[in-house]
Amino acid sequence: MNSYDLIIIGGGPAGLTAGLYASRAKLKTLLIEKKAAGGQIATTEHIENYPGFAQGSGQELVKIMEEQAARFGAEFLAAGATAVDFSAQEKIITTGKGEFRAPAVIIATGCSARRLEVPGEKEFIGRGVSFCATCDGAFYEDLPVMVVGGGDAAVEEALYLTRFVEKVYLVHRRDALRATKIVQDRVFNNPKIEVVWNSVVEELQGDELLERVVVRNVKDGRKTEIAVNGIFIYIGFLPNTGFLAGQIRLNESGYVVTDDRMETSVPGVFAAGDCREKLLRQVVTATGDGATAAFAVEKYLENLR
Ligand code: NAP
Repeated sequence: MNSYDLIIIGGGPAGLTAGLYASRAKLKTLLIEKKAAGGQIATTEHIENYPGFAQGSGQELVKIMEEQAARFGAEFLAAGATAVDFSAQEKIITTGKGEFRAPAVIIATGCSARRLEVPGEKEFIGRGVSFCATCDGAFYEDLPVMVVGGGDAAVEEALYLTRFVEKVYLVHRRDALRATKIVQDRVFNNPKIEVVWNSVVEELQGDELLERVVVRNVKDGRKTEIAVNGIFIYIGFLPNTGFLAGQIRLNESGYVVTDDRMETSVPGVFAAGDCREKLLRQVVTATGDGATAAFAVEKYLENLR
């Protein structure tokens, strides 16, 4: 009974859009998601560049997407995909809740936060180390915190944190931010943010809770201790594709390689969203990928009949 026309793995914007398009096209569709639907965008406080959704939180946007997919009959399963077998026309997805089969699969598993991999990072998770300012920012009311990274995520979350905290040290390994210019300007004009240029985190220290971060200047090698109660790490992402190794073609960084129909190296297996090798990883490109992948699945299944 666990047979479907299409199984979508991952319930972020790419997976939810694929679910909407596929179920609206009357494909019997199962969407597997191990956490709550939404993916990374669900922990984003502020969205202002998704056309048609002028402002609001990631949670709000995702709720609309989820309801829209469910309205046309997509089924949802709360489980993690642990293994896949793409060797036959009927693909098999193994999850914590059993095996599921379909001739077509869309992988939309997104990415997870990259770690600093320095002493203290693991030990202080939940006791000062966070990867989600939206989730944890309010715990640091009137306290000093650090944000690491120079991309859009680091800069936007640093700005968000200034609502609560006393001060944000934005630590970046170079002398220029990677983030979009408009948000860079907001950072430079915010008196609560001090940018610590050309610097990397060496170690996190404290007793029970995080108390200080040792930062090294990469130009002169000088080490400085910065007293903070929280550190928010935004140094990019790694694709959630480990369970696919040996089954489909991944690039050297682990991203799924697809053609412009979102089809992978295995016929009938498609990929959409941030887990895919591509230039721009945003909600707007994820939803576009999801729609294209679902449409391509429809054509693929028609040719099988
Ligand atoms: P990102 O753009 O890849 O930036 C990662 C940042 O972390 C870079 O500044 C990088 O430094 C730094 N970094 C990487 N590894 C590091 C390490 N080991 N130690 C210290 N620093 C390190 O990642 P992101 O900001 O998470 O954004 C991911 C994607 O989502 C991007 O395409 C971004 O535009 C998009 N995004 C968009 C929005 C928006 O449109 N509103 C919001 C958030 C994210 P270098 O600069 O030196 O490489």
